[in-house]
Amino acid sequence: MSRKRPERPARTEKRVFERGLRQVVRDRERIALLAVGGSAEHPIRVPSPAVIEGRLAAMPCPQCAGAYRLVEDEAPGGGVRACRVTCRQCGVSRTLWFKLAPPDEPN
Ligand SMILES: [Zn+2]
Repeated sequence: MSRKRPERPARTEKRVFERGLRQVVRDRERIALLAVGGSAEHPIRVPSPAVIEGRLAAMPCPQCAGAYRLVEDEAPGGGVRACRVTCRQCGVSRTLWFKLAPPDEPN
């Protein structure tokens, strides 16, 4: 004996699917904010500004794993660099935080 599941209109299916997608995007953004480099409180430590672009190139976009393009680079002070980046693939923008410091320097 087999019971057919009640059919749902295609539009409802689509809405549920899109809601799920939005949730995934939000979750990924939240995780990116908590990750190192996602905020001024948790910057990525770099020994010199020269390596920042290389580090950016090695970081995949949390949404689509695409590569970032550096839009602008600010130095608000205290050895901190705020890099405004945009994903080349999905176009999402974010700020990645770096701090100029030797990696072994205590906090
Ligand atoms: Zn992306």
